[in-house]
Amino acid sequence: MFDVVVIGAGPSGASAALFTAKAGKKTLVIDNDKSVTKRAWMENHYGVLEISGPDLVETGKKQASKFGAELVTATVTNVSKTDGGFKVETDQTEYEAKHVIVATGLMADLAEKVGLTTKPGTEPRIKTILDVDAQGKTNIEGIWAAGTIAGVSMHTIITAGDGAKVAINVISEMNGERYVDHDVLKK
Ligand SMILES: Cc1cc2nc3c(=O)[nH]c(=O)nc-3n(C[C@H](O)[C@H](O)[C@H](O)COP(=O)(O)OP(=O)(O)OC[C@H]3O[C@@H](n4cnc5c(N)ncnc54)[C@H](O)[C@@H]3O)c2cc1C
Repeated sequence: MFDVVVIGAGPSGASAALFTAKAGKKTLVIDNDKSVTKRAWMENHYGVLEISGPDLVETGKKQASKFGAELVTATVTNVSKTDGGFKVETDQTEYEAKHVIVATGLMADLAEKVGLTTKPGTEPRIKTILDVDAQGKTNIEGIWAAGTIAGVSMHTIITAGDGAKVAINVISEMNGERYVDHDVLKK
């Protein structure tokens, strides 16, 4: 049983997995390699002078796996409630998770199949988003959403930030107290 399964390894999903794995949560990231970020060239991502989308996505995956997140390339086909959490089915196998973070970018098809409440997008060129609260919670307790699919502005610094925000809320709920992840510069 994973503590957290993240669906999507774009900026929002990988950023979420980086935080949950670094917090010691057993984390799995499932991604089918269709990130639109791969077509991007970024010169407006704070702290990074310039970077290509493919490099940003690869670095994000490396950061998450550095802290123990497992990454699999597959398509999630369904998520269903179980006694202990959720069954996450892919086109290859299935996994168990206590919490699920949906970070599927422009793709809302899975969310609709799972029974997550959706609504029309409010950002340019975004058709459908999930109805989430300020913490990133969907209408199904234990399923969270982050990034473009959660309706935030479609920019890597914002989607990555939203992934981190939602991850900290998941970790804090699991720990029963607010979580902080600060490393200190060694002299
Ligand atoms: C041409 C272009 C230029 C851009 N330029 C900039 C820019 O200059 N600056 C900037 O800040 N932003 C830019 N962006 C926006 C930015 O790249 C991202 O769109 C944004 O950060 C989205 O991140 P995300 O994590 O929400 O989604 P994505 O990066 O799209 O990630 C979603 C992931 O979920 C996976 N997925 C979806 N459904 C499933 C499923 N059922 N099972 C498994 N995996 C699934 C997909 O394969 C994908 O990898 C640009 C975007 C485009 C398209």
